[in-house]
Amino acid sequence: MALETPLNILRSTFGYDSFRGEQEAIIQSVLEGSDTLVLMPTGGGKSMCYQVPALALEGITLVISPLIALMKDQVDALRLNGVAAAYLNSTLSNEEQREVCRNLRLGEIKLLYIAPERLIGSDDFLSFVKELKIALVAVDEAHCISQWGHDFRPEYLQLARLRKSLKEVPFVALTATADALTREDILDRLALKQPKVFVSSFNRSNIHYRVEPKRNSFERLLDFLETQKGNAGIIYTLSRKQTEQLSAKLNNSGYRSRPYHAGLPRDKRDEHQEIFLKDDVQIIVATIAFGMGIDKSNVRFVVHMNLPKNIEGYYQETGRAGRDGLPSDALLFYSAGDLFQLRQFAEVEGNEAQTEVMLDKLEDMSRYCELNSCRRKYLLNYFDEEAPNTCGNCDNCTRSADEVDVLDLTKEAQMALSAVSRLQQRRGISYVVQILCGGNSKDLREEDTWIPTYGVGKMHSQAVWRDYIKLFLQEGILKTTGGKYPVLQLTPASHQVLQQKRDVKIAVAKEVERASRPTASRTSKHRATELEVEDQPMFEQLRKLRKELAAQAGVPAFMVFSDATLVDMCAKHPRTEEEFLMVSGVGQSKLRRFGRVFLDVLKQLD
Ligand code: ADP
Ligand code: ZN
Repeated sequence: MALETPLNILRSTFGYDSFRGEQEAIIQSVLEGSDTLVLMPTGGGKSMCYQVPALALEGITLVISPLIALMKDQVDALRLNGVAAAYLNSTLSNEEQREVCRNLRLGEIKLLYIAPERLIGSDDFLSFVKELKIALVAVDEAHCISQWGHDFRPEYLQLARLRKSLKEVPFVALTATADALTREDILDRLALKQPKVFVSSFNRSNIHYRVEPKRNSFERLLDFLETQKGNAGIIYTLSRKQTEQLSAKLNNSGYRSRPYHAGLPRDKRDEHQEIFLKDDVQIIVATIAFGMGIDKSNVRFVVHMNLPKNIEGYYQETGRAGRDGLPSDALLFYSAGDLFQLRQFAEVEGNEAQTEVMLDKLEDMSRYCELNSCRRKYLLNYFDEEAPNTCGNCDNCTRSADEVDVLDLTKEAQMALSAVSRLQQRRGISYVVQILCGGNSKDLREEDTWIPTYGVGKMHSQAVWRDYIKLFLQEGILKTTGGKYPVLQLTPASHQVLQQKRDVKIAVAKEVERASRPTASRTSKHRATELEVEDQPMFEQLRKLRKELAAQAGVPAFMVFSDATLVDMCAKHPRTEEEFLMVSGVGQSKLRRFGRVFLDVLKQLD
């Protein structure tokens, strides 16, 4: 039975106006007692999907999470909003654990976070849980239960026992990363009954994607950071040594950064992560060891100094930017050298089949970097999601008209496709290019030089033909097979071109301008639409105040108020408590706790 409507809870406790995306439908499903599976990208707002029901339902909501390091933060954040939350994990002393259990029995806790390890071994904990009035079980990072997922945790298998002993209690499983196989596995292993499945779009519309050629990358990085004054960000590099060197260089250039990699001693790592979370340093320079379970909402940019190994990793890493929904940047420096190096890594790691898969994924990654069309579309299509041709928020989409040339490549496309077809779709790019240019390499089979397309493309050099074929691949009028020796093949769209039913006109960047264009222009313009330029000083003041209050409370700054809340505060400039409450992200509890101080500072800024 619901105690209060979800919308009221969202407004009064969390201070948000309205639900996002499918949150409302999901909460409805959960409140109706259905088992529910939620797939939502990072930053989509998964927590609300069980936190609101937890407050609407009588009894306790159990939240299973593998990220022990995060539990305290999650609980602190809830408490700041006046929610009776607690956690049980191995970081608590016995006395503290007993205290939590006591409060649970007294019904003084609404949300309890537990690590799956709790469920292993003795049945004590299960029988304790059975005595409590459990209203809902939320399984966070639910993909950890699947061996098909990328982060399998055997402890998660124990959830089947929890499920058995709480037969009548609805379960909601949530994850940001699940392909069809993982999804099935989650439903299966948790034995979800007639589950309602909600799959949200994986589009992160507030992230601006940009790829630059890796030349003078340190100078280019400094240019970029110049546009990110005071903003928090993560810079990924390939090696441990690189993180330390780059961090030192940045510090010499006046930035505050720290390195993070698996080779650092545990306490150093924790310390660096901690001061980054608290906004004491602006930048963390890290290997991919950093980030799992970082839910700092105000990360404004993610930079990749090197080519990532696959789209999955890249998407996850860039996804750490902008969880608060504000405009954020993902910048990648791309070089053929990196591609070459990673190809070699792929060769030595693992077995043949594995190598093949890794090379394929690497190929997809490098194709992304060489894209002339919308990067978001490519990413979403990669994850089997439809997307419009342009998004308006990636470098290729925001490139202005005078920076692109539209090439009519209809004739060239017909030539290339015809060659592919005549070669029985059995040859790779180099071979096809040789044929088009009438080459006389020894590798060419003699009968192939008799086909009508042999030499028809002589007016262009082999290098130009290579570029064209890459464009045709992006356009989807050609495709390649995977593997070590990819072969060019036709697609349904190819036939329209061959039958002269379709023109091939492709917009390409004017190369020279592309390399020299400053990164700053787009970023500053884009951000100004969110935070007015004249509000910048106010924002800085509020950010400072937030940091002081957070230090007093011993929590990370973004937990006091998110960047999104501060931006909204600047826009609304509240002068009374009622007005303060209208700011997105301000609920009753934070009004009581922080309202006065913020209003005082805002008054001085009048
Ligand atoms: P996820 O767990 O899916 O990565 P979170 O639950 O951490 O995402 O939510 C991301 C951010 O969005 C948080 O700062 C959260 O407070 C905010 N948020 C969630 N729902 C809403 C909403 N309906 N309106 C405004 N902000 C929201
Ligand atoms: Zn785009």
